[in-house]
Amino acid sequence: MEDINSQNLISQTTPIVCEECGHAIFTPVYFLRKVNKLLIGAQEDGIMPMQFAFACAKCGHINSEFKPEGLEDDAEEKKDEEKKSDLIIL
Ligand SMILES: [Zn+2]
Repeated sequence: MEDINSQNLISQTTPIVCEECGHAIFTPVYFLRKVNKLLIGAQEDGIMPMQFAFACAKCGHINSEFKPEGLEDDAEEKKDEEKKSDLIIL
């Protein structure tokens, strides 16, 4: 029964292939973020694994649909913080 069910499930899915090379095998990859030691109360900066995505096992490309949202926004937030600190200095 389980085999029949899983075969039915597969028939209702669509394959995902690499946007760059069309390869259909992927490996899990993690996005790492460095955490300031003061923030976590440790003696050294920590490394925090974020949401993992899937990279093409052939060329290493990560499809745009796998990239986590918000990582690009972090860079913009940093710019805002820099602007604020500039205002304080002035
Ligand atoms: Zn690829």
